[in-house]
Amino acid sequence: MKTIIEPFKIKAVEPIRFTTRAERERILDEAGHNVFLVHADDVLIDLLTDSGVAAMSAEQWAGIMRGDESYAGSKSFYRFEEAVRNVTGMERVIPTHQGRAAEKILFTVLGGEGKAFAANTFFDTTRANIEFAGSEAVDLLTDTGRKPEVRADFKGDVDLDALDRFIDERGAENVPFVMLTVTNNSGGGQPVSMKNIRETRELCDRRGVSLFLDACRFAENAYFIKTREPGYADKSLLEIAREMFSHADGATMSAKKDALVNIGGFLALRSEELATRCRNLLIVTEGFPTYGGLAGRDLEAIAQGLEEVLDERYLAYRVRSVEYLGEKLVAAGVPIIEPPGGHAIYIDAKRFAPHIPVEEFPGQAVVAALYLEGGVRGVEIGGVMFGKNDAGGNYVPPPMELVRLAIPRRVYTQSHIDYVVEVVLETFAKREALRGYEIVEEAPMLRHFTARFRRK
Ligand SMILES: *Cc1c(COP(=O)(O)O)cnc(C)c1O
Repeated sequence: MKTIIEPFKIKAVEPIRFTTRAERERILDEAGHNVFLVHADDVLIDLLTDSGVAAMSAEQWAGIMRGDESYAGSKSFYRFEEAVRNVTGMERVIPTHQGRAAEKILFTVLGGEGKAFAANTFFDTTRANIEFAGSEAVDLLTDTGRKPEVRADFKGDVDLDALDRFIDERGAENVPFVMLTVTNNSGGGQPVSMKNIRETRELCDRRGVSLFLDACRFAENAYFIKTREPGYADKSLLEIAREMFSHADGATMSAKKDALVNIGGFLALRSEELATRCRNLLIVTEGFPTYGGLAGRDLEAIAQGLEEVLDERYLAYRVRSVEYLGEKLVAAGVPIIEPPGGHAIYIDAKRFAPHIPVEEFPGQAVVAALYLEGGVRGVEIGGVMFGKNDAGGNYVPPPMELVRLAIPRRVYTQSHIDYVVEVVLETFAKREALRGYEIVEEAPMLRHFTARFRRK
C-alpha cells in the first residue's frame, strides 16, 4: 500500500513563529507555567485542542462569500438545513453558535430537578449543562473503555447492563434520554460500535426512553466502524453515518469538530413538539430559528464541511495522521492510551514521569517540558483539571494523569508531526530531570484555565 498523503494542496499559508529555548523559558515563567496563559503567537505547533481550529477548504471560503445574511429565511439556512438532514435524517434542524448552546437549550427543556441522564461519557460542557439544569449526569462506560493499556476496537461503548440497572434505579419516567458521545472525547476519542448503538436503541425502546447522540465527531466514528466492524467495509461513510443517526431521536453537534469550521453547532430532532419548545428558547438566547446565533456565511461553511468530512480519503488521512504519531511514540516506548483515538494522542504522564507524585501534577510537568523543548503546546487532563479536595482538605487525584496532543483538522503536515515526535522523544529521554509543580494561585472553578504554578 502506498503512503496515505494529505488529500489536499495548500492555497493559503500562515507563518508560525520560532522562538529560542531561552525565550520560551521567559514566556513560560511569565505565564505562571500554565500554557493556557501563553500567547498563541509564542507557540510553534499548537495541539491544545482540535476544536474550532480546522483549516477550511477553498469551497468553504467561497461559501463565506456566498453567505446570505437575511435575518429571516436566509438561503444559507436552507442549504445548511438540507446538509444536516442529509446526514442525520432528522427533519428539525436548529442552528446554534456552538455545541454547548445546543446542550443548554436541550437540557433546559428536558432536564430539571429529579431527572437523570446517562451516557458512555458526558463531555464536560454537557455534564455542566445537565447539572446546571438541576439534573444528574452519570457515565456508564464499559470496563474495557476505562483501561488505558488495553487495546480494543470500540472503547467508547456504553455498558448496557449498567444502563439497564440505571433505568431501573431511577425509573424510566425520570430518565428523559440516554446519550452516546461519538467518538468519546473525554475517554480518549475512542469510537462507539454500530452494534452498541443498535443495542442501546433496543434497550431504550424496551424501557421507553429516548436516545440522543453527541455527534461532534460522528464522521471519525463512522470511519472506525467502516474499518473495524464486521459488515461495514463496503458501505459508504455517508451510509454508515446515516445508520448511526437512524437509531437516535435527536443529536447535538459542535460544528467546530467534524463540520470543519471555526464556529457553529446545531440541534437536530425528529419530534416537532420538542423542536417547537427548543426553538422558543432559541429565540430568547441565540437568535431567530433560521440563523440561531450564527451568520449566514457560517451556515454555508458548515453545510460544505459536512459534505467534505465524509470523504473517505480525508478520513483515512485524518485517522492515519493521529495513528502515525501514536505509532512513533509507542515504538520509542512512550506510554500512551492505546489504541489512539480519532482526534488526539493521550500520553500517560504517570508512566512517563513515575518519579513525580500525583500531588505534584506529573501531567503539568510534561506539558511544560514539551513547550520548553520545542514550542509544542498540549494540554494536561489530570490533577490540575479534575483534582479535588475532600471535606477534610485532603487532595483527591483523578484516576488518570494524561497529556493530550489534539490534532487540528487539515492544519499540520507530516513533517510537523515528525517534529512533534522528535520533541516528545527528546523530552522522554530527559524525563528523569522533570520536576513537579505546586499551584500558587487558582480560581474556585475550572482552575486549569488560569492557575499559576511554581516548579518544585
Ligand atoms: C466540543 C464538544 C462539545 C461542546 O461543543 P462547543 O462547540 O465547544 O460548545 C460537546 N461535546 C463534545 C463531545 C465535544 O467534543
